Order: sequence, then structure tokens, then C-alpha cells
Amino acid sequence: VIRAEMFGQLTGGLEAAWNKLKGEEVLTKENIVEPMRDIRRALLEADVSLPVVRRFVQAVSDQAVGVGLIRGVKPDQQLVKTVHGELVKLMGGDVSELVFAKSGPTVILLAGLQGVGKTTVCAKLAFYLKKQGKSCMLVAGDVYRPAAIDQLVILGEQVDVPVYTEGTGVKPAEIARKGLAEAKRKNIDVVIVDTAGRLQIDKAMMDELKEVKRALNPTEVLLVVDAMTGQEAAALVTTFNLEIGITGAILTKLDGDSRGGAALSVKEVSGKPIKLVGRGERMEDLEPFYPDRMAGRILGMGDVLSFVEKAQEVMRQEDAEELQKKIMSAQFDFNDFLKQTQTVARMGSMSRVIGMIPGMGKITPAQVREAEKSLKLMEGMIEAMTPEEREKPELLAESPARRKRIAQDSGKTEQQVSQLVAQLFQMRVRMKNLMGVMEGGSIPALSN
Ligand code: GDP
Repeated sequence: VIRAEMFGQLTGGLEAAWNKLKGEEVLTKENIVEPMRDIRRALLEADVSLPVVRRFVQAVSDQAVGVGLIRGVKPDQQLVKTVHGELVKLMGGDVSELVFAKSGPTVILLAGLQGVGKTTVCAKLAFYLKKQGKSCMLVAGDVYRPAAIDQLVILGEQVDVPVYTEGTGVKPAEIARKGLAEAKRKNIDVVIVDTAGRLQIDKAMMDELKEVKRALNPTEVLLVVDAMTGQEAAALVTTFNLEIGITGAILTKLDGDSRGGAALSVKEVSGKPIKLVGRGERMEDLEPFYPDRMAGRILGMGDVLSFVEKAQEVMRQEDAEELQKKIMSAQFDFNDFLKQTQTVARMGSMSRVIGMIPGMGKITPAQVREAEKSLKLMEGMIEAMTPEEREKPELLAESPARRKRIAQDSGKTEQQVSQLVAQLFQMRVRMKNLMGVMEGGSIPALSN
């Protein structure tokens, strides 16, 4: 099993939940209890806040029990999929893009406590936006620490973006106003304003931020929070939003051994989305926050997820149910066989599909070509069958004359036709096993 590099502990904790369902055939109120307890424990250990965990667990169990299983998808895989969907929802669903001003410079005001990585984010953000073809300017609004201004100037040089400073003698709101005027003169697309951080929230900091915000009328007000602080990060976002009104958060230090609580809680607790994440100290280590990718990483189960999705997409529910009934009663016939091969074709190249089925391992391109060729071959023979023969494969098992006719009509050998018929009966058995119906079908011997 490949562990996600982030949130390793959370990934491991959740894995315990799926493992308890291995070998189960359906999800029930009873067999879901233990796995749900594992999920709850894993989230609490990841420092997700308790009310969030409660709602999450409730939502997952409501969905998990009672939904029809998709053919070929096992309960543990189904639970992975359900948890994934809920994780994505929890983190805000879609990616929250940065908003840009319709005219004039876009102003991004950054706030945050000391040491969270705010100064670094200023430069990273400029670097990120420059790659999108936008011209940027940084404004040094942290007037209490001369070192912070120096650091911003150095980082600005590093990413080749101008830095507007007034030293430490001017009020931050005044610096912000002048910086913005300068940016307008220079036709700069995006102005990123750094502000002072403190060790903890205090009234002076909030008042100053409010004043800077009034002076700028910013497009975005983003709170920079440290992922290592877990659910505390979510509480900070809430407080800053209530006090000064923010548009979102930037989560830094996601590369460290953060447990995931911040990424999972911010949106749910504060109502504000995480827009960007920092995943290292280099300038290129800033990226948009994609809830679905993040959920995928947390689960470390990308393959299972895409397998279940494909199966869902391809197989309409009614088709699936009808087929399931047929398989159960060993009625699977050549029409279904054809439908199956067409389904496989729709699922994309065989190698990808087979590669996605857990436990099937990798097959070689040569084997894929072979399999695709034999599918084609089968189709020819099935087309040469009468409707009655397609529905009652027993007719073919019993009658060498019928097999001979089909061989002639489709240009195949009698042996190939016999193989196809045998294969259908083997498939009945295999599919029954797959469905967990263990009665075992018999493979009739072909009469000569
Ligand atoms: P500020 O006080 O909020 O302005 O924080 P700084 O920008 O000075 O950053 C504090 C420290 O955190 C610096 O050593 C940064 O290199 C480091 N840092 C910032 N962002 C990240 C990140 O995403 N990952 C890691 N590992 N370190 C970071």
C-alpha cells in the first residue's frame, strides 16, 4: 500500500475501517458500526473538531447503509467512495478560485499570526500569479519588525517583483494607500499587501487590519494559517472573519507532519474556503486547494475511486439490477455477453479497466491486444446465432450441428465456437462467485 505523504496517520486510521469490511458482501447497520468507530477515531486523532466529526460520521453512515451496491463493487470499496464524497463536501466541494478585480488592480490583503508563513506567502503568491501572466507588486505593511520588511524585499528580488516600502515610520493604512496608488500608476495587475502579525489575536491588530482594509477596499482578504495548528486554524479563520470579514484562507506548512485537522475543518467551521495551500519553503510550493485531490490523497486510494466511478458511469442502475438478477438465476446469456463486451469497450481500453480492478495487477499491452482480438472474434460468432440460441446457450451446448452452422456462418472453426460456449458457462460461474452467490453453477459438458 502506498501511503500518502501527507496525513499519513489519518490515512492509516481510515484504512482500518475498510479492512474491517474485507470479505463482507453487503453493508448493514451492524457491520458498519466498527468501521464508523474507526473513522471517528481517525478524524479526532487528526485534530478535526468534534462537532465536525459527528456530522461527518452521521452523513457517511446514512449514505453507506441501504444504498444498492454497484455490481462488482465490494462494500469496503463502496465505503471508501462514500467517505471520499463526504470529505470533498467537507472541504468545500469545488476549488475556490482567487477573484480578480474587473478593472484596476486586484488587491489581495494578507493577514495572519506571526510565524505562520505570511511573508513567504506574499512572495509565493506573486510568483504564482506571475506565471499566469499577471504583473504584481508587494507592499510591506508590517511596520513593527524592520526584519520583516527586509525579508519581503529580499523575497521580492528573488521572484523579481517590486516591493513598495515606506520603512517603519508610517502607519500601515497610509502605506497601503500609497502602495496602491503607485501600483495604479504602474498599471500593475495585482497588489499583495503584507500586514503585521502578532503572537496572538489582540484588539490593536484587529483595529489596524480594519483600517488597512478600509483604505484598500481589497478584492481578497486572505488569512494565512498554519496547518500544524489543526482545528485551532479553523477557529482563527472564524474569528478573523467575524472581526474583519475575510474572503478565504491560505493554509501553509501542509508538507510538514500536520495531521489534517486544519484542512478538514476550516470550511465547515468558518464557512470560508481554503483557496491556496503552501507545501514547502520554495517559491513554487504554493498551489490551489483542490478538495477532491486532497480527499484522494488522504485516502491514498485513487485507483479504487476511479474504478468505482467508472463502474457507476458505465452501468446504468436498471441494467445492473437486471443483469444481477440474471446472474443470480444463472440466466446470463449471449445477449448479456454481448452487452458486457460493449460495456468493456465503453469503459475504455481494456488494460486501464483491468489495471483499475483491485487485485488484478498489471497486464501487458500484448495481452490486452490479445484480449481485444478475442472480443472481436466472439462478437462475430454471437452475431451468427439465432435469437433463440443467444437466449438459451444450452441449445448450443447440446447440439454439435448448431455449433457447426455458426462456425460456418462466422468463418470460425467448430472448436472456436465450442470454446465460446464453454466460456459463457464459465462466466456464469465466475460472475456468480463475484456476486457472492456461492451455490456454484455447473458447467455442462458439451455433447459430441
Ligand atoms: P511570517 O512570520 O508569518 O511572515 O512567517 P514567514 O514567512 O517568515 O515564515 C516562517 C517560517 O516558516 C519560515 O522559515 C518559512 O520558510 C517557513 N514556511 C513558510 N511556509 C512554509 C511551508 O509551506 N512549508 C514549510 N515547511 N515551511 C514554511
